[in-house]
Amino acid sequence: MAREVIGAAVLSVGDELLRGDITDTNAVFLSRALSDLGFDVRRLGAVGDDLDSIATVLRQTLNVARVVIITGGLGPTEDDLTRQGIAAVLGETPEVDETLLAGIRARFTAMGRPMTANNAQQALLIPSATAIPNPDGTAPGWLIQGDHAIAALPGPPSEMRPMWADTVRPALEGLLPTRVAMIALMTFGVGESVVAERIAEIIHADPDVTVATYARAAGVEVHITARGATDAEADRRAGEAAQAVRQALGEAVYGEGNVTLADVIGGCLAKDRASVATMESATGGMLSNLITNTDGSSQYFRGGIVAYSREAKAAHGVPAEIMDAHGLISPETAVAMAGAARRRFGAEIGLATTGIAGSDAVESHPPGTAFVAVDCGGRIRTRELHRPGSRETAKMYFAQSALDLLRLELHRKASP
Ligand code: ATP
Ligand code: MG
Repeated sequence: MAREVIGAAVLSVGDELLRGDITDTNAVFLSRALSDLGFDVRRLGAVGDDLDSIATVLRQTLNVARVVIITGGLGPTEDDLTRQGIAAVLGETPEVDETLLAGIRARFTAMGRPMTANNAQQALLIPSATAIPNPDGTAPGWLIQGDHAIAALPGPPSEMRPMWADTVRPALEGLLPTRVAMIALMTFGVGESVVAERIAEIIHADPDVTVATYARAAGVEVHITARGATDAEADRRAGEAAQAVRQALGEAVYGEGNVTLADVIGGCLAKDRASVATMESATGGMLSNLITNTDGSSQYFRGGIVAYSREAKAAHGVPAEIMDAHGLISPETAVAMAGAARRRFGAEIGLATTGIAGSDAVESHPPGTAFVAVDCGGRIRTRELHRPGSRETAKMYFAQSALDLLRLELHRKASP
């Protein structure tokens, strides 16, 4: 199917970016999101908090892209100049919009904080722009839909991303000659190259379906983007491709969309009315942190112990004989820790991690080695892990692996 190609660009505003104080993750997020939709991303740019530079770069960018997304510089201070830059390029004059002003005032009242005069700058609008609601912050965005589509969003990713998803993306989808459907499948336990190999045929099966893989700390994501003449056609193509990917990857697929491993196990535990407790060594609390990032975790998470030293492990019920016979970093000690956690907290399930995240070998194990164990009412499962690299990466991998082990155990229980 021949289709019109629409050029897009992302412009990031802020001195912090030019100084290297922050990483431009907004550009990464938006360029991927635009590409996923089917736009041809032609330029990524960063510019300082300077009116002339913003206007100049925006003018140049509009020459190569019909769609431009700008982030940053929408704050209340004098160095927040994105609005003025856009207005200058379009030859329009910003004026305070009373509805926006009332909204900002209401937000300050709700927070019990005084609104300062400079916050009124965030209520500015030009005639060709509509405001993009910002439920997570004070600065509304701007959306301009004319010969060019221009969106201006605040810099903080926590504000920018929901505004993109709720308002900008739906508006831009209307520009595309074809409809687009997207499904993201989350996997754990298989490397990106293995995933790519197993789904190679699906990747090349249909020119209207794009399948891309992204390696993340919580596993490899498989993004399916399908196009069609209608929503129904795009949905059907995406659904069929997702089904094929699920078939090829089997139980490595743990969910769709923004779901985390902790959400998945939380759902199973809440449904089974089962409870879990943790004892962590290598992950230093990250496992219980991940578990409690899920809403409703109080229903099934009893508690966790970070038992880093041998003495702490012994004090919390890990038998000394097991640690002496097998070492602290061993499947046996991991299992004993999971059992001890279960008993300490009166939970049905115990989950444990023990290993080395650092750079020195311990007990002859190379750095990046860990054992995770789950004790599910006496049913035991362990996994040996190897992930050399930074402490942070290794710990995250160990913690996610423990959750994945529990997930597989819970699935097995549900369908023996
Ligand atoms: P605010 O109202 O918070 O001032 P703003 O729209 O003016 O929002 P900036 O002042 O440019 O945005 O940036 C605020 C913060 O948002 C930065 O300190 C940084 O943490 C984050 N941020 C800004 N731009 C980016 C970017 N391109 N990528 C990632 N984070 C960013
Ligand atoms: Mg700012």
